Amino acid sequence: MSLLSIVVPCYNEQETVKLYYDAVSKVLSTMDIDHEIIFINDGSKDNTLAELTALYEDHRGEIRIIDFSRNFGKEAAFLAGLRAAKGDYVTVMDADLQDPPEMLPKMFEVMEKNNNDVVGSRRVTRAGEPKIRSFFARNFYKIINRYIEVEIVDGARDFRLMKRPVVDAILSLKEYNRFSKGLFVWVGFKCEYLEYENIERVAGETKWSFWGLFRYALDGIIEFTNAPLHFAFWTGGGLTFTMFVVLLVLLIRALLGKAVAMTAVILSCVLFMGGLILLCVGILGEYLAKTYGEVKGRPNYIIKDLYE
Ligand code: UDP
Ligand code: MG
Repeated sequence: MSLLSIVVPCYNEQETVKLYYDAVSKVLSTMDIDHEIIFINDGSKDNTLAELTALYEDHRGEIRIIDFSRNFGKEAAFLAGLRAAKGDYVTVMDADLQDPPEMLPKMFEVMEKNNNDVVGSRRVTRAGEPKIRSFFARNFYKIINRYIEVEIVDGARDFRLMKRPVVDAILSLKEYNRFSKGLFVWVGFKCEYLEYENIERVAGETKWSFWGLFRYALDGIIEFTNAPLHFAFWTGGGLTFTMFVVLLVLLIRALLGKAVAMTAVILSCVLFMGGLILLCVGILGEYLAKTYGEVKGRPNYIIKDLYE
């Protein structure tokens, strides 16, 4: 029988882990598959660890716990969970039941039927979320998708069912700064999304502040695009060129004996120099972008399978 590994990052989730376990085991009991649940205690400051070890004692062999020395963030917890997972299938879920376990059987069904490597989940509504947060989230997807070579689907959750080769591919990306939303799609494979309505967390509260999310979005853009670096190059180049033309016009006017305002000449010179400096910074940026890419050491491709 094949094995399903469920990875659950937990940070200050004392109210939810038990509820989560009950909900997920109810669903798992209806499914024809072996499973292991890997909880990552991401440096919780409340009684999450005690709650987890109690579950562990009650359900030996079913539960594994990875306990972090401090809070490393959800991305790090993910990574530890994926590395530890032994399953042929792996899924990542939030502890707060915002990722409905009832979707698991459906995910398997779709995976089987359409021969997918990944079945993801996607919220079609953002009900219950602050308006301003939805606004920024929508625009984040618009901006990042303009520059990135793969598409990050708006509303896609981290909750997804993956086959072993996909997990291995994600683990083969060695970069330190991990933006999972990007990495998940970057590796490719055949993927399909199931849609569902937003669900609010059962208990406890969200760990994301507005600025926390903003930084996360910014990290995603910096990790996956060099657009901010190209910006200096193009504005600098544009400015230099325009000012060059203006200076040329002024010169011609002067040569034709027409009046030329000295302030116009000085201003054009200053802007021309400004543009030139920005352009040079931009050129440095282009090299930096390449170096950044190299330092990340991402593989150039990922092989799905080999026919030998
Ligand atoms: N989480 C974590 N480490 C952190 C922050 C969050 O492991 O530093 C976990 C958290 O316990 C939960 C999941 O990541 O299981 C999603 O967090 P949350 O529900 O706060 O995010 P939201 O659903 O509001 O985006
Ligand atoms: Mg949540």
